[in-house]
Amino acid sequence: MLKDATLAHEAPPEAAAGAAQPRPDPDMREAILAKLRFAVGRDVSAARDHDWYVATALAVRDRVVERWLDSIARTGPEKKHVYYFSLEFLIGRLFFDTVSNLNIVGEVRQALAGLGVDLDRIRAVEPDAALGNGGLGRLAACFMESLATLDIPAFGYGIRYDYGLFRQAIVDGWQHEIPEDWLSFGNPWEFERPDIKYLVRFGGSVEMVGRPDGTIQHIWHSAETVVAVAFDTPMVGWRGRRVNTLRLWSARAADPLVLEAFNRGDHVGAVADRMRVEAISRVLYPSDATPAGQELRLRQEFFFTSASLQDLLRRHRERHPDFSNLPDHGAIQLNDTHPAIAVAELMRLLVDEHNVRWDEAWRITTATLNYTNHTLMPEALETWPVELMERVLPRHIQIIYLINFLHLESLAKNGEISADLVRQVSLIDESHGRRVRMGPLAFIGSRRVNGVSALHTELMRKTVFSDLHALYPDRITNKTNGITFRRWLLEANPDLTRLLVEAVGPQVLDDAEALSGLERVVGDPAFRDRFVAVRRRNKERLAQEIAARTGVKVDPAALFDVQIKRIHEYKRQHLNLLETAALYAAIKAEPNRDWTPRVKIFAGKAASSYVVAKLIIKLAYDLAQVINNDPDVRGRLAVAFLPNYNVSLAEIIIPAADLSEQISTAGLEASGTGNMKLALNGAITIGTLDGANVEIREQVGPENITIFGLTAPEALARKAEPDHASRAIAASPRLASVLDAIGSGAFSPDDPGRFAGLVGGLRDHDPFLVTDDFDAYWEAQRGLDELWHRPEEWWRKSLLNVARVGWFSSDRTIREYAEEIWRVPVG
Ligand SMILES: *Cc1c(COP(=O)(O)O)cnc(C)c1O
Repeated sequence: MLKDATLAHEAPPEAAAGAAQPRPDPDMREAILAKLRFAVGRDVSAARDHDWYVATALAVRDRVVERWLDSIARTGPEKKHVYYFSLEFLIGRLFFDTVSNLNIVGEVRQALAGLGVDLDRIRAVEPDAALGNGGLGRLAACFMESLATLDIPAFGYGIRYDYGLFRQAIVDGWQHEIPEDWLSFGNPWEFERPDIKYLVRFGGSVEMVGRPDGTIQHIWHSAETVVAVAFDTPMVGWRGRRVNTLRLWSARAADPLVLEAFNRGDHVGAVADRMRVEAISRVLYPSDATPAGQELRLRQEFFFTSASLQDLLRRHRERHPDFSNLPDHGAIQLNDTHPAIAVAELMRLLVDEHNVRWDEAWRITTATLNYTNHTLMPEALETWPVELMERVLPRHIQIIYLINFLHLESLAKNGEISADLVRQVSLIDESHGRRVRMGPLAFIGSRRVNGVSALHTELMRKTVFSDLHALYPDRITNKTNGITFRRWLLEANPDLTRLLVEAVGPQVLDDAEALSGLERVVGDPAFRDRFVAVRRRNKERLAQEIAARTGVKVDPAALFDVQIKRIHEYKRQHLNLLETAALYAAIKAEPNRDWTPRVKIFAGKAASSYVVAKLIIKLAYDLAQVINNDPDVRGRLAVAFLPNYNVSLAEIIIPAADLSEQISTAGLEASGTGNMKLALNGAITIGTLDGANVEIREQVGPENITIFGLTAPEALARKAEPDHASRAIAASPRLASVLDAIGSGAFSPDDPGRFAGLVGGLRDHDPFLVTDDFDAYWEAQRGLDELWHRPEEWWRKSLLNVARVGWFSSDRTIREYAEEIWRVPVG
């Protein structure tokens, strides 16, 4: 679409409209009333919040559908599409996002108010769509929004899980996982498409039949067939410019009821197969960084990959005589290795089902697929036992063997290859039982392979993919992650948005780089006061939320020190907790010093099987119990662990954060995106030189971020020193004493040995270098304490963070993917 100059001057969203009152929209009021009556089936007098929410969502959805159909209609069949394959989409709530992107917040609010209904009350009724674990899934959601905003025709493909990521309850400090049945009250945003369905097959055997021309046809006699049914959710871009489709697959049994068995009286047996089949889309795998080495996970990955490929091949074949030009009309992005089986499945579909020659199919496949790597941690690099693949996907393992043979043969043609090199680049790992290595499979089968921050991409070239990189030096490229500013600034922080519009003009709503206009006003005391006042209101709101959710009372005037993300040893919440315990001891020792009042705020889920992560949550809770109830530190230190971290909770915490904790062991966080959201909302970062922190430092300037600790190469070298932890502890009396206190039960009198193992692990090997970085972290924190006492300087740095992080908009990221990886025009 041509850039329409009038769009930029349309009424800004309510968030930024200032005093301007929206015009009453009688249509919206009537539409809501009609939906309430005829779609929900309730009378105004009987309607409850949920009824109002559904009625309003359906009324808004009608407007979305118009634009959706229009987007599809004006995207000619010749236009290239992007297909984003992801096992996770961590979307969060869609109601306010949709209303805001359509610029109708004011109209909807007014229409509801006229009916005696508060928009903010009903928007809180919507369940949080948590079809993802953390950063990887949230990235996919931000990308869907930016794709639509940039008017790029795109489909997101994934699984419609009946149960999203578990809800976290904290009972006496221990995490409990509660099923997230987000669909139990229906989902007004999705459209079931019973006519769009594909058969996905598993198991069985492969027969080889000679063709008259001497080639061999492989016929897969599968043992099991599953039906993938499409559910479409419209993804609305900013200002409703374009609406794309998120197509999620649900698993259905081909034969839902074995009628003969039922008639025999075997009522349970008649549906047993159905239960097994439909388990595929039952629940999101609640694992963040380790491969769940289980058959169901492999079935999930193949299920959605196969259905999605069949869907896009069908669409292509409706318009083209063959597949030779598939790469001109579609680009597929594999979000991590979860859909890497696409390499073998696309080959199978082309060669076995559509009779394309192998070489031609390989050309098409490797010109269409692209792969994003998200982690270098060995335990998180997916591999599948050959034996399992032979059983579940017998044809695919044959194809993988052939790809591997041809791959190794082409190396041999290019000169000597050593046994060592073969071991390094083979798709089959023979060192721990025979396993298929999905990362190298995705690499070989892709046109472009990307990392998600400059440092991460550099480490990809030097470590996991060094040999493949030497063979294909142009394949790896960097695409630093980004976040959508619509959700993470305009919707999450409407007061700050309004202030920014006043300060730099309404173009800031459309162009993230326009934030740099703030540089002009950072020195203006009147502006700074208003900025601080906005932050103060956000902090009061968070303080209320903390009180409501945990009972902890915190002072909004204190420094809000925030670490919110999945709980993982490499993210080092325990480093933060050690510093918290040490600070507590220091305040008690010198109660009359001028301590900077701090509230330590934590939130995050631990993978259900990750024992140490759950113990770290318990440590946060136990520290909170002692510290929050000690009158000696009252008003100076408080600790709160907010349960059930998800997108909606992030939207409340982030606008209120003063300090952003990004303290992973250098070299282990691929990018991070929480770091970007927090900086955008004015938090100062304390962090290691890891992931995108490196680029945040480049953007905001080294004087506006607090960097501490070992660098990635230093961390690698340090880890190799067998006695690094004991030396670090011996050199730091403060660290030694805090480890003694926690290890001996000072914070867990009911079970003094509770943290002995955790502390013992740090003393013995400490693979994440918590002890090595402790002193540097302590010093960095004390520097920030000092800075808090110079508010003018603090807020200047904070404002410069807001002004200089425009580059981290996912619009910039998607533009780079569009130009360099997908080769599609940007609208
Ligand atoms: C942004 C986000 C993440 C990723 O946070 P990191 O700090 O980058 O790990 C995880 N979960 C939710 C709900 C998010 O919004």
